[in-house]
Amino acid sequence: MTRTAALLCASVIFLGVSPSASAQKAGPRIYISVDMEGIWGVVHGDQVSATSPEYGAARRWMAEDVNAVVAGLLEAGAGEIVVNDSHGSMRNIVADALNPKVSLISGSPKPLSMMQGIDGTYDAVVFVGYHARAGTAAGILDHTISSTTIRSIKVNGQELPELGLNAAIAGYFNVPVIMLTGDTTTCGQAKALLGDGLVTAAVKEAIGRAAARLFPAEQARARLKEAAREALGKRQSFQPFRLAGPYTVDVEFHNTAQAELPLLLPGVKRTGARSVSLSGTDYIETFKLLRAVIALAGVS
Ligand SMILES: [Zn+2]
Repeated sequence: MTRTAALLCASVIFLGVSPSASAQKAGPRIYISVDMEGIWGVVHGDQVSATSPEYGAARRWMAEDVNAVVAGLLEAGAGEIVVNDSHGSMRNIVADALNPKVSLISGSPKPLSMMQGIDGTYDAVVFVGYHARAGTAAGILDHTISSTTIRSIKVNGQELPELGLNAAIAGYFNVPVIMLTGDTTTCGQAKALLGDGLVTAAVKEAIGRAAARLFPAEQARARLKEAAREALGKRQSFQPFRLAGPYTVDVEFHNTAQAELPLLLPGVKRTGARSVSLSGTDYIETFKLLRAVIALAGVS
């Protein structure tokens, strides 16, 4: 190999690194967690199930909702944007359907699941396509992490939706959630928990668990873009959502069998016929234990 070739290699490596480094300097780093139940067009479980013929359309809508948010974030000066596919198999978004300026985290399992990859280097978090917690009336496909096993999850006595459990992961790293999209019910639930200043963009109004009035697509996507621009523009006004430790997590399942196998895990106690509790001092470690509890409940 000649000296010229070596120099060429060096310059190629430099070119490969520089866009990401300059993007970080160019603007705030944004982390997007995208679920599917709160995406425009989705009203029924069949649409978010990979084995259904209706799934193909929903995964396209998912990318379109994200792209509208990304467009608003970029207009507001975002630097690097990372999107974490957070529903089911977590392989819903067809990679080349996304804005080519963003990174996509795809696939499952991931240690932090819907929040995989978040850390203190991010400036803001956006939740796209989120849904209401289990037991919410008129919330499209309301559930908390697992619709087949979980009836409720309480952290230190407070019942939390997925959006709360995940916001607390971001909060652990001191990163605020600045925006959420979903149905109107979920938007209200998010504001009640994370604060009135949270920017929300509703894409539909739930009539029941599996019926909604969809807002006109053009209007919904324009609202997603505008909300993203607004949220990032005032990002300095948001506080991270932090839950004070130590943590006691009470989990209620749908049936008694689901409370049995989680007891194999150290420190998990039965608190009722269909409920267990777990505890921890570090939120991330406690969250991981919660995930193991839910996984074992699912094989009962
Ligand atoms: Zn989901």
